[in-house]
Amino acid sequence: MIVFEPMKIERIELHRVQLPLVRPFRTSSAYRTHIEHILVRLMDADGAEGWGEIATAVDPFYNSETTETAWHMAHDFLGPMVVGQVWETIGEFRNLYGRVKGNRFAKSGMEMAAWDFIGRKRGQSLSKMLGGTRTELEVGVSLGIEADLGALLFEVEKYVAEGYRRVKLKIAPGWDLVPVTAVRSKFPDLPLQVDANSAYSLADVDHLQRLDEFQLLLIEQPLADDDIVDHAWLQQRLRTPICLDESLHHVGDVRKALEMQSCRVVNIKVSRVGGILESKAVHDYCLGRQIPVWCGGMHEFGLGRAANLAIASLEGFVLPGDTSGSDKYWKQDLIDPPVRVSHGLAQVPVGPGLGVNLRMDRIEAGRRGFAVIDGRQK
Ligand SMILES: [Mg+2]
Repeated sequence: MIVFEPMKIERIELHRVQLPLVRPFRTSSAYRTHIEHILVRLMDADGAEGWGEIATAVDPFYNSETTETAWHMAHDFLGPMVVGQVWETIGEFRNLYGRVKGNRFAKSGMEMAAWDFIGRKRGQSLSKMLGGTRTELEVGVSLGIEADLGALLFEVEKYVAEGYRRVKLKIAPGWDLVPVTAVRSKFPDLPLQVDANSAYSLADVDHLQRLDEFQLLLIEQPLADDDIVDHAWLQQRLRTPICLDESLHHVGDVRKALEMQSCRVVNIKVSRVGGILESKAVHDYCLGRQIPVWCGGMHEFGLGRAANLAIASLEGFVLPGDTSGSDKYWKQDLIDPPVRVSHGLAQVPVGPGLGVNLRMDRIEAGRRGFAVIDGRQK
């Protein structure tokens, strides 16, 4: 058995970084031109380090957390609870702030940095530490609500030509049957799915049933973000598999949703479930029940994107994820080289930890806030 030295974080840096999107992104719940995430840097007394990304939106329209609330959590609670404490495993690290309720995006970025820290110390990639079985992943692309059909078809065509393996369309009342019909008639065999981000209610059941004729892989989160019960009622009336996203915060939620048959597919987002360890737990649970999972995204910079690729290398991720290349979002990613997708395939990082090379000059150029947490605050 390999015995590892106990670890102790002495200093934490928080970098609040903003990057402009290559193209504005609209969903049923939000419109974005920039993304602002918090990078977490854990450091020990010997100078060893690990980086993570808190991928909250600036507004509370996907979930209740924002960049500002995540900053407050990381700076005033999670960080001080971690600094100076001894831990040997990610489970122990997570327990350091186990008393903090909710705030899973903030926790996720903190925990991601701990995985990176351990991986770098051991010289092991995150995928290897998790037991990933693939080195190359099929990748899909998520397309926002566009101003008109022409713009949408142009985008679909572009990504299909680049080799992306499936397309996801964001839908909302008034922008559903028309775009789906247009894309399906132009691309009859394209693996296609839709995401409503909670834009519908049970009163829309007849309307949603009309989506059944388009051979969609799935419809994501049609009903409320805090619902599991109504989704079960709706799933009974739809042939298209429902996939839950916003409703699932941990493996317990997933168990209940599957028991109730509220969904047939699960979207795993590292941020939404509070970290990589819980993502693995959700994956393992779904694998045991033969429920397909795929990796969703929160417009992560290259750092969080690398974590997504690592978790998606696990065997249960049988559907292409929203793990597009950096160039879909950023002119210049914070990592160099960026995440590249070629012929619809992305490589799982093999370097120690997250396996990326961060560009400090780009982090500093996009920085909107900086703070240090060390033992002195205690
Ligand atoms: Mg979604």
